[in-house]
Amino acid sequence: MLTVENTLKWLALFNQAIQTNQAQLSALDTPIGDGDHGHNMARGMTAVTEVLADKAPTDVPAILKLTAMNLITKVGGAAGPLYGTAFLEMAKKSAETLEIAPLLSAGLAGVEKRGHATVGEKTLIDVWQPVIAQLEQGPLTAEAVTTAVEATAALRATKGRASYLGERSIGHVDPGAASSGYLFTTMLEAGIN
Ligand code: ADP
Ligand code: MG
Ligand code: MG
Repeated sequence: MLTVENTLKWLALFNQAIQTNQAQLSALDTPIGDGDHGHNMARGMTAVTEVLADKAPTDVPAILKLTAMNLITKVGGAAGPLYGTAFLEMAKKSAETLEIAPLLSAGLAGVEKRGHATVGEKTLIDVWQPVIAQLEQGPLTAEAVTTAVEATAALRATKGRASYLGERSIGHVDPGAASSGYLFTTMLEAGIN
């Protein structure tokens, strides 16, 4: 269940993971994209971290909404609007429930609608979907997150820049899946499960 405290902790840990792994995320985006995913996410999460410190929101919907707005406006590239939409749908849903599985499920539905993508297309959806399925059954583990990220290597991309490569996209982990992996491992580190 989300609280103000664990949501802020989650976003702070996610920001740290993104900054630490910025070069790795851009390296994953080099063979199957344009090499900017780490840079894009780092810029967005720096903006999120600054605005949360500045505005000091005192409820979960406000935290999620500020996060969404900054990801949508500050991240160039496909991933910003997609992550931003996920957080915006989570913000809306958080007026109704603070349970993590239905919140993430609302976020995923927003990503699918915005990106016209579904599971199996080698995108961050291929991490969100199994993570949510696991949370609906019981506790999520970091191993399950890592397994989902690595499983994207075997997929052929049919959405986003990687789809331009067709069969040649096979064998590479999807960068957005990798950043979503950090989103969910830091969620666990923040005690949200
Ligand atoms: P860009 O491709 O514009 O440079 P990024 O490199 O920041 O954007 O993000 C690329 C990631 O965005 C991909 O690895 C993939 O996970 C995700 N992505 C791209 N297009 C879609 C889509 N239509 N639906 C879901 N995720 C997508
Ligand atoms: Mg890119
Ligand atoms: Mg780009």
